[in-house]
Amino acid sequence: MVTMRRALVISAAGMLAACSVMGFEPPGLQQRLEAIGPTKGLSAKLQRAFAPGDSFEPVPVPCPGDWLAVHREPGQTFEQFRRSRPNQPDARRRIIYLQPLGAFPEQQSLSLEELREYATAFSQMEVKALSPVSITAGDFTSRTNSMTRQRQILTEDVLRWLKGKLPADGFCLLAITMEDLYPEPSWNFVFGQASLNEGVGVYSFARYDPAFYGEPRGKDYQALLLHRSMKVLTHETGHMFGLTHCIYFHCVMNGSNHLRESDRRPVHLCPVCLRKLQFSVGFDVEKRYEALGQFYRQLGLEEDAAWVGSRLEKIR
Ligand SMILES: [Zn+2]
Ligand SMILES: [Zn+2]
Repeated sequence: MVTMRRALVISAAGMLAACSVMGFEPPGLQQRLEAIGPTKGLSAKLQRAFAPGDSFEPVPVPCPGDWLAVHREPGQTFEQFRRSRPNQPDARRRIIYLQPLGAFPEQQSLSLEELREYATAFSQMEVKALSPVSITAGDFTSRTNSMTRQRQILTEDVLRWLKGKLPADGFCLLAITMEDLYPEPSWNFVFGQASLNEGVGVYSFARYDPAFYGEPRGKDYQALLLHRSMKVLTHETGHMFGLTHCIYFHCVMNGSNHLRESDRRPVHLCPVCLRKLQFSVGFDVEKRYEALGQFYRQLGLEEDAAWVGSRLEKIR
């Protein structure tokens, strides 16, 4: 069952309204362990995979303007997740679909194939990319943002369109676009939005491109865009599985309010969130880390590859 509160997930966004600091207190070690929950009945390998050891940093104390300074997040322990009866893939709905939406200009574009491969390694599910769909005027409500002077597309319209497009064997359908998005007229922009009830979401990579802010694209810009997009895609896929924002460890499921915060966030799942995904998909944690390690090495993401390597040593 998905409650109304959970029905819509709005990702990191710029609200025009003023925000107030809520005084978030990072959970201590005991609380972090309780969020993972007892692992006694699990296999020895899973027990090792869900033991944090020294591989995982606690969630950082938020700075003013950071997600946890602005949003009150209750957290979601593994047990709470399990009891929420989250959406799970089954024999019929077992494929994650990606829908490229609008133009992916040559010099700006990230490799959709690399993103698809990454999502496969991360979820250990089959991930398929649908044929790109172009946007013509009038397809979706749009406006010109008064600050950036760039076109923005209304997410609500895209979500409505996506609902009719989820294939019969699709667990979820994630539209990805280089167009900037907004969720309603009072908001400045939104990085993405999902309807969990329907298993659809739309995510923009527009603001991950330095050129969007009028900044020069550095030499390593394509790698930067890919790294940022990888995090968005897996974070949003996590939401599709019913994972809410992580408040326990520094984790790819942490909420993010701005680009610096997204860049600080690691690419990996903490033990609480890994346990949730593993519970729903049933993958072999070792095989998953091996696939991730291979992907990171292929792309020259040495730091991420080394981290996965150290996890594998502890799990085997
Ligand atoms: Zn999120
Ligand atoms: Zn987490």
